[in-house]
Amino acid sequence: MSDCLFCRIARKEIPSAVVYEDDELLAFKDIGPQAPVHLLIIPKAHCEGLNDLTPEVEKAAARIPAVAAKLAKEFGVAASGYRLLANSGHDSGQTVFHLHFHLLGGKALGGKLCQG
Ligand code: AMP
Ligand code: ZN
Repeated sequence: MSDCLFCRIARKEIPSAVVYEDDELLAFKDIGPQAPVHLLIIPKAHCEGLNDLTPEVEKAAARIPAVAAKLAKEFGVAASGYRLLANSGHDSGQTVFHLHFHLLGGKALGGKLCQG
């Protein structure tokens, strides 16, 4: 999608701190990190979120856990622990409507995922 922020990042029209790239996926540092390690992993093909998976995005996104595990090792949080999550829709707080997974680590993240 031409005006989607993460599509523009995937096309390198907007700069980002890329940490991983292949034909289908891109990972880059979150611009407003909420943990010492805060990366975003996206399929390059546009899809708004988990409710809108296309076969192409579903195939690419299936590889995200393995890429996250590789990045967790590279960023030194594999042993200490990390969280991989995707917000989907209004109640989750999703703000960018191009599917993305947050990889968070480097501190104790706490057990509460449902604070209002
Ligand atoms: P979400 O709230 O799950 O939709 O997450 C969107 C994330 O994108 C937030 O954590 C933002 O800090 C991050 N973000 C927004 N703009 C950029 C950008 N230009 N480069 C990197 N991360 C961004
Ligand atoms: Zn997009």
